[in-house]
Amino acid sequence: MSAQTEGFVVILCQDCVYVDANGAEDGVEYDNVPMGLLDGYLVGPHYDGLDPDYWGDGFFSWGACDGCGTGLGGMRWEYLAVPAGRRKGE
Ligand SMILES: [Zn+2]
Repeated sequence: MSAQTEGFVVILCQDCVYVDANGAEDGVEYDNVPMGLLDGYLVGPHYDGLDPDYWGDGFFSWGACDGCGTGLGGMRWEYLAVPAGRRKGE
């Protein structure tokens, strides 16, 4: 069984995707801590079942972000979360 099938799908906002990829910027204040709700998890893009032509495409949503909880409308991306410390094949 791969880590892909052991994770769970989360929907992330732009701030969470940015902070996950680059780390938090000094001096930037957020109403909701990016990735604060997924402390202890690693995330990566979730492409299962998607046409490669659409990989990386986001979608607009008013739904709450699973990473920080913001309910502000905006772009969202589908990611897969797995507990930190577990790697594929373990
Ligand atoms: Zn977020």
